[in-house]
Amino acid sequence: HLSKRLTAVADFVPENGRVADIGSDHALVPLSLVASGKITFAIAGEVIAGPFHRAQNAIAAAGLTLNIQTRLADGLAAIQTTDQIDTVVIAGMGGQLISDILTRGEKALKTVKTLILEANIQEALVREWLMQHNYQIVAETILAEDNHIYEVIKATKVTVAPNYTQQQLIFGPLLMQQQAAVFKQKWQHRALTNQRIIANLKANAHSDKSAKLRSLELENQQIKEVL
Ligand code: SAM
Repeated sequence: HLSKRLTAVADFVPENGRVADIGSDHALVPLSLVASGKITFAIAGEVIAGPFHRAQNAIAAAGLTLNIQTRLADGLAAIQTTDQIDTVVIAGMGGQLISDILTRGEKALKTVKTLILEANIQEALVREWLMQHNYQIVAETILAEDNHIYEVIKATKVTVAPNYTQQQLIFGPLLMQQQAAVFKQKWQHRALTNQRIIANLKANAHSDKSAKLRSLELENQQIKEVL
């Protein structure tokens, strides 16, 4: 049984995709996708021995070792061209780490058409990476679970690079159109937090915080424009 967050990730995987789940931990996403019959082949990549063995054990316990291979490797080094992977999933990491993994492993993406990425912070960095590497955002979803708000992005390789504005990179080109309740909640909460910090900075006359002030005020201006 998958969490709401991982269900959203799994839902974005194309039917019959050949999937690599990088940073798979318990291999929950590949296990669920194969068990449901949506896919028949996946690789669960892990860079740390503990989670790698957890994945191996879970896959063996489910009797799915023929369908899901585990690889102890750093990022996209888990996949070879011969695996013919067409879908890469990276979930539960920061946007900076996800972008780094994609950049370092770019060669391994040759056969990959679809990326499904869930960054728990710095989502804008992920969207920027996608734009710079000819991936177009084709689906986005936002959800709340366990006191945290998650965004899941699905992108596909295109020949002409998409051109996203700064606003679209921050808020998500599709999320800002959808205006889901959770989306509004996320950015209203961010605006309030910013307001509190701005008030504190203004009350503290001792140090020069004008750059920080300006960037917070700018972000709140942007939030007002988008909501
Ligand atoms: N993807 C699962 C999820 O979303 O629930 C697990 C997320 S867990 C917070 C992050 C996992 O990524 C950890 O198991 C960690 O070992 C793994 N990881 C971090 N950096 C990695 C890298 N460079 N290559 C492969 N796995 C990595």
